[in-house]
Amino acid sequence: MKDNELFKFLNDELERQNNSIELIASENFASKEVRELCGSILTNKYAEGFPGKRYYGGCVNIDNIETRAIELVKKLFNANYACVQPHSGTQANMIAYYALLETGDKILSLSLDEGGHLSHGSKVSFSSKYYNVEFYHLNAFGRIDYEGLKKKALEYKPKLILAGFSAYPFEIDYKAIKEIANEVNAYFMVDMAHIAGLIAAKELNNPLKYADIVTSTTHKTLRGPRGGIILTNSEEIIKKVNKACFPALQGGPLENIIAAKAQCFYEALTDSYKEYIRNVKENTLACSNEFTRLGDINSGTENHLFLLNTIDSYKVNGKDAQELLEEIGITVNKNMLPNDKEKPSVTSGIRIGFAALTTRGATKFDAINIADIIHDYLLKNISKEEAKIRVKNIVKNLKKVEEI
Ligand SMILES: *Cc1c(COP(=O)(O)O)cnc(C)c1O
Repeated sequence: MKDNELFKFLNDELERQNNSIELIASENFASKEVRELCGSILTNKYAEGFPGKRYYGGCVNIDNIETRAIELVKKLFNANYACVQPHSGTQANMIAYYALLETGDKILSLSLDEGGHLSHGSKVSFSSKYYNVEFYHLNAFGRIDYEGLKKKALEYKPKLILAGFSAYPFEIDYKAIKEIANEVNAYFMVDMAHIAGLIAAKELNNPLKYADIVTSTTHKTLRGPRGGIILTNSEEIIKKVNKACFPALQGGPLENIIAAKAQCFYEALTDSYKEYIRNVKENTLACSNEFTRLGDINSGTENHLFLLNTIDSYKVNGKDAQELLEEIGITVNKNMLPNDKEKPSVTSGIRIGFAALTTRGATKFDAINIADIIHDYLLKNISKEEAKIRVKNIVKNLKKVEEI
């Protein structure tokens, strides 16, 4: 028996997704196959443990599925070992810390307001309660200050140095950070949640060459189900990771989601996915360049996202920009800029990404057009009605979300 009220909400959400321009850099549209596996009968099965070592009977098919996911993700990222059970990116990070650190140990990371993630030691996250977190910073150009990072590491002597961010538009010098980590005898952890898809497609450097441990989500540029993974080349570390995952921090794995992860890894190994990622980069750059051409201040980009300074470009803070754009069918998130003077709930800018819209077939011309609409609307050059019509004209040519 169906809860009609609930299914109406589901339908409303499908409409919203189909009718808006989705520019949230951490979102994407998963394929039919990924969604089919998420909603499959695999949700019925308990499978505490790992392939070949389960606490319950009847796991033969589940073992095949989880082993397939592990093999595919190892191939995709050129890793020796993988754990595909973390329920989310935050869980993956919690598991990684738990595997390598004792409570009270020191972590050196980038703060949330400079592009880091909540789980990297934010005041409101478990990570700052259980560990001692110090932050390194960006330089005046919004790039990682590697010299400053080194100074902090030598001073602070962290047990773990963390790179990999939520709002950082540039490539990361993993080799430089690994050398610093070696010097102070720290683990080097990379959280590639945002950029995993670009790394899979070889459009950004692969951190596994240098990092001791790599965590990721599977639902951002990787375009899979909502979930997490952990990769490493060390047998010793994967043993600790698996123990931290189960039984320390999680119970039964979500095998329906693990199957969907396997499908997403399979898709990410194809040439068409590589082409998709090249298009994501091209669209993001085209949009950022158009803002620059219009005189609007933005970070520039080397990946799938950039930051737009709305306060200096249009005299509108990030929160208001987000709300204004939502009125015309453009979805973005407010975001702290480097050295932002506003509170995290207000901010001075927005984050724009093209992973999701490119999945729906958006082109470079759409990306340029979108920059023009945002520019015109936030400067009040055009009315809400006109902005809405221009958004509709783009949306009507995009692929339907349910057909991806
Ligand atoms: C999104 C993100 C996460 C968290 O992922 P959730 O699945 O939302 O828990 C962790 N780290 C980084 C860098 C992220 O961007």
